Amino acid sequence: MAPKEKINFEGIFLKGILETARGKSMNLEKDLLTVGLNRFCVQRGCDLFGVSDLTPARDYLAFQGNPLVMKFPRAISIGMQLNYDIVKQHTPCETRQESLYWYHCYDVVNPMLNFLAYDAARWLTDRNFRALPVPASTPYNMEKLEGIFSHKLAAHLGGVGWIGKSCLLITEKFGPRVRLVSVLTDAPLETGSMLDKKCGSCQACIEACPVGAFTGMEFQATASREARFDARKCSEYRNNHACGRCVSSCPIGIRKL
Ligand code: SF4
Ligand code: SF4
Repeated sequence: MAPKEKINFEGIFLKGILETARGKSMNLEKDLLTVGLNRFCVQRGCDLFGVSDLTPARDYLAFQGNPLVMKFPRAISIGMQLNYDIVKQHTPCETRQESLYWYHCYDVVNPMLNFLAYDAARWLTDRNFRALPVPASTPYNMEKLEGIFSHKLAAHLGGVGWIGKSCLLITEKFGPRVRLVSVLTDAPLETGSMLDKKCGSCQACIEACPVGAFTGMEFQATASREARFDARKCSEYRNNHACGRCVSSCPIGIRKL
């Protein structure tokens, strides 16, 4: 017997409210859209969610040079925690083939994030907004270790976390043990604001990095990433397979197991 088609009452309800709200109040539409999308993502396994206004990053995005990215005013950041024990046991000497860490990040978590971003984009396009899912980070420029869009920058602008001395996104709950994906959109979602947090006197990632890739400088919006991080040193070490010590050494989000 063919399975009965599931009826998404919540979706229909929310869509109905949205259509009514559009004629009455933009703020109500914003709130309903943001809460609805957040709930949709959480139900599908997202651990972190934020929305950013990309206006402050326009110059940087223009410099990165992807014209498609420039067409969208906002970014949705969706994050998942990495498995704590896998990050903890990872050693820099493992090869790509024998590493649970690499398998977990690139073969398990990245596809989950990409499917989630695709679903979130569809949720928005069903409501007549534009939405472009940007794949979870797989750097296309191995020398600079950059992707087509900085998920970290968007998550930072949306208040999901702050950029640490390791140039990673540091979140309150999981530290840097997270992976991110983004959906660019014109939907009028409620945007978050940057956290007023810094690494302070901590030097753990700087001391843990085997090639001295970090200068120890805190993130500053006006300073280039090169002033904080030598991507070539990191990339050449372990032949493009990041050793992950900057992730596992961070005291933020450490679990007392
Ligand atoms: S992955 Fe390893 S080599 Fe690269 S910056 Fe982090 S600690 Fe340094
Ligand atoms: S290890 Fe310390 S300095 Fe490095 S990112 Fe984490 S909190 Fe910041």
